[in-house]
Amino acid sequence: MEIKVFNKFPLFSAQSYLLVKGEKALLIDCGYLSDELIQALKDVTLCGVIITHGHFDHIRGIDNLKKLYPDLKIFYNQTDINFLSNPINNCSRFADKNDVVINEETISLSEGIHAVGEFEFEVIYTPGHTKDSMSILFPKENVIFTGDFLFPRTVGRCDLPTSSISDLEKSLKKIIPYINDELIIYCGHDQATNGKRICQENQYIKDILNKTF
Ligand SMILES: [Zn+2]
Repeated sequence: MEIKVFNKFPLFSAQSYLLVKGEKALLIDCGYLSDELIQALKDVTLCGVIITHGHFDHIRGIDNLKKLYPDLKIFYNQTDINFLSNPINNCSRFADKNDVVINEETISLSEGIHAVGEFEFEVIYTPGHTKDSMSILFPKENVIFTGDFLFPRTVGRCDLPTSSISDLEKSLKKIIPYINDELIIYCGHDQATNGKRICQENQYIKDILNKTF
């Protein structure tokens, strides 16, 4: 599986990841639909987009993406909280000049194993930064996408609507068994890291490991 990273955006946006297997592709987050991303999409058949959580900087490009691909499937962790069309919950009202309101239908991803096109992945709910945060693990490729839940040296901020520090701690405990030395960890706003490095460099992970063992 090839992983293409899109992070050169004129606006503040999360990174998008285009996963490619042969002719098929799966997109993780779409904070901005750049020309570069549009170009890359021309070479593949897009099987869907997965939203790691409903913050504006991860979803703002969805409307434009839907214009290009009207039948596109949008996969998401639907909770009882509306993020996508609520500018307060998706933080666009405070952080962006324009409210972000996404009214597209989504397909809810339950926890567990899923297959979309050629892609097999496991959904792990990891709330804390937001209630709808989830991580997407590709076991065969030993790769995980953590959105804004987990970064190489820190965790997502927990002072936003639906943030919960106790949920975050539970999510950290939950994710630890999935971490192995070679696991590649891709997050929303930083460089990738691996399992070995995150256990050495992320104080939040270290604290949980020290409490557990
Ligand atoms: Zn976020």
